[in-house]
Amino acid sequence: MEKFGFTLLKARFIDYDANDRSIAEFIYSKEPSFRVCIECGCCAATCTTGKYTRFSLRELNILMKRGENSLVRNKIRECMLCGKCTLVCPRGVNTRNVIALAREAYRKEQDNAV
Ligand code: SF4
Ligand code: SF4
Repeated sequence: MEKFGFTLLKARFIDYDANDRSIAEFIYSKEPSFRVCIECGCCAATCTTGKYTRFSLRELNILMKRGENSLVRNKIRECMLCGKCTLVCPRGVNTRNVIALAREAYRKEQDNAV
């Protein structure tokens, strides 16, 4: 990297190989439509929870795909499962199911850790 005359800030560095992407893989296996999310943000723009808080499904989708689960684990519980995001998604992602599966995966992860 240094031969290009620059380095990446550590805080900006995403180590995909070291990150745990098992949660995203679990969702892909049960809800394949999650793969075609283009991170456009339509879901976040219409979100009932996001209207009053800093909750953003777009952000959580990106973090789960990167395997940055620690930021998602608690935040995903704020969703009210109203389903508005599913209605507006231009890619036909079943976002409501994605969230339900993510919660299930994080719950299982927690159970296995005990
Ligand atoms: S609206 Fe659909 S495609 Fe856009 S970020 Fe949300 S889930 Fe992804
Ligand atoms: S289901 Fe959750 S993420 Fe989707 S619009 Fe409703 S509160 Fe927001």
